[in-house]
Amino acid sequence: MRIGLVVGNWKMNGGLASNAKLLARLADDWRGEVPRRLAVCVPAPYLAQTQAALGDSPVAWGVQDVSEHAAGAYTGEVSAAMAAEFGCRYAIVGHSERRRLHGESDLIVAAKAGAALDAGLVPIACVGEALAERERGETGRVVTRQVDALVAGLGDRVRECVVAYEPVWAIGTGRTATPAEAEDVHALLRKRLAEAGTGDVTLLYGGSVKAANAGSLFAMPDVDGALVGGASLDADEFLGIARA
Ligand code: PEP
Repeated sequence: MRIGLVVGNWKMNGGLASNAKLLARLADDWRGEVPRRLAVCVPAPYLAQTQAALGDSPVAWGVQDVSEHAAGAYTGEVSAAMAAEFGCRYAIVGHSERRRLHGESDLIVAAKAGAALDAGLVPIACVGEALAERERGETGRVVTRQVDALVAGLGDRVRECVVAYEPVWAIGTGRTATPAEAEDVHALLRKRLAEAGTGDVTLLYGGSVKAANAGSLFAMPDVDGALVGGASLDADEFLGIARA
């Protein structure tokens, strides 16, 4: 189902004291007053703190990755079922930092999305091209390959995912895709997903989204919301994006 959604990705940032302030601001200030949902994906050690702080609020929470395995000898991994025990609604999978720094393939990303669904979580599956790929005119080919792998791995269950288009060259760089550039790729993804039987998947844009540029991105017909990194650590910026 297509919904308006803004998700924060804290990455490996935070601490008990700073989290408490940020989470309290979100819980106090966000009343779900616009037709857009709000969520934060926090580092796994802070799930209990997040659940306690946001439990009675309309703000949802999630993790930034899950194991593709259900349980077992996978030192350091966190399973989707473990995240679900802490009330998580979302699990980011296939973030470009995981693909690049941890060698996660399209196949692994699809398996992680499947593991998240098995545990009752909504996967936020990230796709996006590197700068060199964009410059070679390969954006369409790359994101199509990535989304096709998701469809191949999940079949009909892809309709339960959120897909985030995050051009790698726009993540943490301050360089945002223009609304037209984002819309081009979102329209392509929506068409591809429609061909696979599900055109109404929620599509987020991610890459240096701020309160100042969110409104023009959200005005695009196929942009349903945003996955927000750096700006999600600042309550004013993050709430500004949610209200844009
Ligand atoms: C991200 O990490 O998913 C992201 C979009 O980061 P930023 O907003 O900082 O570019």
